[in-house]
Formats: sequence, structure tokens, C-alpha cells
Amino acid sequence: MSSVNLSQPTSRNIRSSILSPGKVSREEAEEAVRTMILWLGDDPLREGLLDTPARVVRAFEEWFSGYRLKPEEILSMTFEEVEGYAEPVTLRGIQFESYCEHHMAPIIGVVHISYIPDRKVVGLSKLARIVDLYAKRLQVQEKLTAQIANTVQAVLNPKGVAVMISAEHQCMSTRGVLKHGVDTITTQYTGEFSLDKSRQSQFVKLVTSGISR
Ligand SMILES: [Zn+2]
Repeated sequence: MSSVNLSQPTSRNIRSSILSPGKVSREEAEEAVRTMILWLGDDPLREGLLDTPARVVRAFEEWFSGYRLKPEEILSMTFEEVEGYAEPVTLRGIQFESYCEHHMAPIIGVVHISYIPDRKVVGLSKLARIVDLYAKRLQVQEKLTAQIANTVQAVLNPKGVAVMISAEHQCMSTRGVLKHGVDTITTQYTGEFSLDKSRQSQFVKLVTSGISR
């Protein structure tokens, strides 16, 4: 490893990102993609690949847009005129795409969220946006599940939150053990969902009835 030359662009990228995460320039990110293309054995200067680094960086901005969002802003608008509605509000089958933090391979699946309001409710689309806020980052499914549940609990302060995620990990289906069609299922409960087992089984029954994934 003594041949590592810190004046090379790749090493400079790594060094600057360690020194100041999030401060890597677009140019440096594009250079890193060019390095990967070269490492694969292709020519980044051939016509078909010329604009690829710029496109990859733009795609990454979209796939990892969650780093730029704040949960407090998404969940700030709540409503209290719900005529005393106090039973769970459940969103079933919110589709998401994330990327595993070990291989940067896609994790594709669905999230089910339920919360028991304590007077205030939140716009339904906001819960879907919370999913994206955490999904569009480098993730492990266990952490994603906990982050969604804990954030809804902390910001909205309902009587309880339940989250279930069912997803396929492409780092397992397209490489390594090469097992297709395996769903990884994780759950996280807070408040009444955590204390009351009947609340939990109600939730599980509701979100798993009549759906295949
Ligand atoms: Zn992985």
C-alpha cells in the first residue's frame, strides 16, 4: 500500500470527505465515478460514457436526498379538529427504495406505519415523506425501522407508533448468497403499541391481511 499517492484525485476525495463530510465538490464526486469506470476496465472518455459521471452524481443526489431533509419541518403542521378520533391511523404499503450501507445495493420494499393520535393528527403524505427522509440515505433496515418510529414518536408525540418494514435486499439477491425473493421483516413499537400486545396484533393483522409482500 506504499504506492498510494495522496495527490491522486481519489485519495484526495477520501481525505477531504474524512476531514469535512458533505463538503466534497460535485467535480470530485464525478472524478470518483470516472475512477470506478477505469477500475472496472472501461474507458471513461469513450462517447457513451463521457456524460456518465455527471448523470451518476445527479442520480445519487436524488437517491440520497434524505440527507438534506429535516423531520421537524415535515411533521410541523398538525390538525386537531378530528372530532375526538383516538384510534390508530394506519398507512399500509408505503413503497420505498433505500441503499444498504454495506454494499450501497438497493433495498426495495414497503413500510407500514400506524400511530395512535393524542389529540393531533398529521397530514398522511407527511408520514410517507418521513419514510423517504430516512430511506434516501445509506441504511440498514433495522435502523431505518427504528428511525421512522422514533421520529414520529418524538415530533408528533402520539400515544404510540408501530412501524413494520418488509424488504428485499439486492446485496443478498444479486451477489453473495444469491437468494432471491427473501423478505426481511422488521418491526418497532413505541408507547401503547409497545405496552399493549393486543394493539400490536391488531396492527400486524391489519397490515399483513391480503398483501403478498
Ligand atoms: Zn448490503
